Order: sequence, then C-alpha cells, then structure tokens
Amino acid sequence: MRFLMTTSKGIEDLARAEVENLLSALGVPFRVEEKPLGVEGRVLAEVGEAYYTNEKGRKRELSVSTYLNERSRLLHRVIMEIASYRFEGIEDAEPEKALKRIEDFVSELPVERFVKVSESFAVRSFRKGEHRITSLDISKTVGKAIFDRLSRFGTPKVNLDHPAVIFRAELIGNVFFLGIDTTGDSSLHKRPWRVYDHPAHLKASIANALIELAEPDGGSFIDPFCGSGTIPIELALRGYDGRIIGLEKYRKHLRGAEMNALSAGVLESIDFVLGDATRLSEYVESVDFSVSNLPYGLKIGRKSAIPKLYADFFSELSKVLEKRGVFITTEKRAIEKAITENGFEIKHHRLIGHGGLMVHTYVIE
Ligand code: SAM
Repeated sequence: MRFLMTTSKGIEDLARAEVENLLSALGVPFRVEEKPLGVEGRVLAEVGEAYYTNEKGRKRELSVSTYLNERSRLLHRVIMEIASYRFEGIEDAEPEKALKRIEDFVSELPVERFVKVSESFAVRSFRKGEHRITSLDISKTVGKAIFDRLSRFGTPKVNLDHPAVIFRAELIGNVFFLGIDTTGDSSLHKRPWRVYDHPAHLKASIANALIELAEPDGGSFIDPFCGSGTIPIELALRGYDGRIIGLEKYRKHLRGAEMNALSAGVLESIDFVLGDATRLSEYVESVDFSVSNLPYGLKIGRKSAIPKLYADFFSELSKVLEKRGVFITTEKRAIEKAITENGFEIKHHRLIGHGGLMVHTYVIE
C-alpha cells in the first residue's frame, strides 16, 4: 500500500525520519521518499501489510493509516494513494481540455477497490500553481468521474458535508494525486488541545520540527516568547523528562497557554512565567535549550521595534544558554545580526513554509 503524506514545506526530511521510525517500530517492510514527483511538503511511503496479535492470540491486520494518524507529530494528512501522475502541459491547457484529461484519467482508476458503493463520498481538492482551472472545477470533475465509475457497481451516494469517505485530489503544478484522505477534514496540525487561539500561533507540526532540530537531551528547555504555548506543550506531550519553561510578556497569552496546557493534560509539566524575554537572565540563571517562534512584528507589534528586541534578547540569551537554540522568524537581517553580535554560531539554516510565507529557521550554539 502507498501513502501520500502532507506536511509543511521545508520539513519533509524530518517528517520522513519520523515516518521511518514509526514504521520501523511496526516491523513492516517499507520505503519512504521525500517530495514524490518533486512536490514540496509531501512524503510518500510504500508499506507492506502490518499485523498484530489480538487478545485471543489471533493475527489481525493493522491499519497503518490509523497508526500514522495517531502517532505522527509532523504530518498534516495521511492519504491512501490511488494514483500519482504528471500531466505534462496542464498548466497552460484550455480549461475544458485540462478537465477532460483529468476526467478521462480518473475514470480509468479502480476507485471501487477503495470505497464501498453503499458508502457516501465527497471529493476535496487542493490546487497550487498557475492553472486555468480552479480547485472547485477539479472537485466537480473528479467527483463526476468517480460517481460514473461507481455507478457500474450500484448506486453511489454523494454527501458533501458529512461523507463517509473523503477522496482527496491535488493538482500541484503539473502533478496530480488522487487518494483516500484517512485524516478527515481537520488537518492533524490543528491539535485538539488548542482551546486558546493566539493570533500568531505556530503550527504544531513546525513546533515539533523545531524541537527535532534542537535535539533536547533532557536538559532544561525554555520558549522565551511562548505565546499560546505550542512549543512547550508539544514537548511536554512527548513525555520530556527535563524542566520546561514558557515565558510570555502578555498576561492574556500566558493565561491562554495555561488553558491550552490544561486541555492537553500537561499543565503540571510546564512552568509558565509572565515576563520579558529581553530580561531573560532575571528569570533563569542557565538553560540548556531555547526554542522559539520570535515575534515578527507582522500580526502583532511594530516591525520597527524588531531589531532592538532581537538585539536585547540575544544579548540576554548569551548570558544563560548552555547548549543549543532554535529560532524561527521572517526577519533574516535582524536575527542574523543579533545572533552573530552576541557570540553565537549559526550551525544550520533552513526555510520552512508557514502561513503562506517561507520563514527562516536557525540552529545556533
Ligand atoms: N509560538 C507561539 C504560539 O504558538 O502561540 C506564538 C509566539 S508569537 C510569534 C510571539 C509572542 O512573543 C507573542 O505572544 C508576544 O506577546 C510575545 N512577546 C513579544 N515581546 C515579548 C517579550 N519582550 N518578552 C516575552 N514575550 C514577548
């Protein structure tokens, strides 16, 4: 079976490593590929059948998609692949011709193997790139092709609001994917624990990518601009052994972080502190790891205040940080100046897609 998995752009390697670890634990044969057909934010896994032994000692098939949906911290969706195909020239094609090509292709796919005709279905589409067709056009065309095909086997049922089975069709550039979306309508990065919605919160998948890059080893850990607590909460949910601190300047967000941690069941594992990160050394004498999504001055605050905020914060960080820091921001020039002027070394840099922007990520020591 082949699974197409979605995640944020720029963390495909970390998502791949996570999927490989999860599948290794199952003891099934597998192969995982980053960016299948060159598409960013996608990981493909080819997985053999997995089994478990039930309480009566009987061998039963294990649902790999359920396992991945429940265990992954970095994925957004797990899609059971039906087909992946490169439609050369589809970007510039006349709308009718582009849609006809998609319809002809889908109508030849054995979708009846993936859904019972008695189950209601819907098609959700995603389109990225320059095309003369919309995602709505794709949903309608793919939906019609599936409906016509299933009609050969019975009377198919469409339910756009509450379908039993969700087909996901994606057109990214000239690459087309079709599969069964085993995740459902809500992406995995939208964590059920989030009861307080910070205006600039980080996706939980990216929070986990930053944690992976920091490689915390059980030493003390701080997010000095913790907002609604995404990073400390996700670390605590991993069962982290060391001390976890979340610092935030505004009481409203700190209360929100506490509510989120309570909802996640990890309030006891995190020390939330109301305070100013530009006076970090007043709250902690030393800390091993610091991971944060810095204020960018886009959604909240003033952009002109960012260079001084970063300069003051990294000066304080240099007094307390023992091991490693990971920071994400759009403000490349301001952060690089603050990092280097305070005696830190950039060990790694990458761009990660977040909220429609490519955001700079630094690992520093
Ligand atoms: N990662 C967080 C989340 O997922 O909710 C969002 C962090 S947001 C980009 C940056 C946060 O830094 C905001 O909540 C803001 O109130 C806080 N902040 C701004 N200046 C600060 C300062 N000097 N000290 C501590 N926190 C500050």
